[in-house]
Amino acid sequence: MSEAIEAAGAPLRLPHVIAVDGPSASGKGTLSRRLASALGYTYVDSGAMYRTLAWWALQNQLHCGKPMSPSDEDAIVRLMRRWKAELRLVDGQAWIHVNGYFPAKEIRTNEVEAAVPVVAQIGKVRDWMVARQRECVRFGPLVMEGRDIGTEVFPLAPVKFFLEADEEVRQARLADRGNAGSNAALRDSMDTTRKQGALYPALDSIRVNNTGQTPDETFEILMGHVRARLSLP
Ligand code: C5P
Repeated sequence: MSEAIEAAGAPLRLPHVIAVDGPSASGKGTLSRRLASALGYTYVDSGAMYRTLAWWALQNQLHCGKPMSPSDEDAIVRLMRRWKAELRLVDGQAWIHVNGYFPAKEIRTNEVEAAVPVVAQIGKVRDWMVARQRECVRFGPLVMEGRDIGTEVFPLAPVKFFLEADEEVRQARLADRGNAGSNAALRDSMDTTRKQGALYPALDSIRVNNTGQTPDETFEILMGHVRARLSLP
């Protein structure tokens, strides 16, 4: 048999994806970055993609608050279909750039924080984002954090974590980041109750409540699961 025919018969192997989901301040960001760097995988912050669209919609003076009419939603979808957005790999991390620019600071303001769950409830926005997130496999193996990564974006991911922490601990973390006034509880409630891509743990996810753990301890727990699931030394 020729090599070409053997290759054609070989099972298609997609790069490994480690999905990390959870509510705000559950430790997803810190731990996902550490996992990606320890494993040499590309880190993808899917929340930054939704934040970038919310920022761009605000820049374009679109209404991104409650209540949203169908025509408000259409305006955001039309903007998204026209924007010059491109996924770029920077230092092992994939970010959406708009007109060649990644608004790293701008997407962390309270204004964007209030707009993002509203924008993220629009079904056509989610379809577009999920397609872009799946395209990230072109960067190789991934650690992707978000809300629906293990349930919608990569339901066949070999390792799925769902991170949690008690309410007071999450509030204290938000305060440490200067985000105490950001109304994360409202954002979490909108994220868990929307019709499409709602936040909930995948049935086959590994749930880790990191209340009372140091980041090092949680990291070791997650790495232990990754080693076991991916048969790493
Ligand atoms: O993760 P981060 O807090 O930056 O996410 C910001 C917001 O983006 C979330 O509150 C949610 O509304 C939206 N999001 C989402 N689906 C994802 C990631 C983020 O709807 N996979």
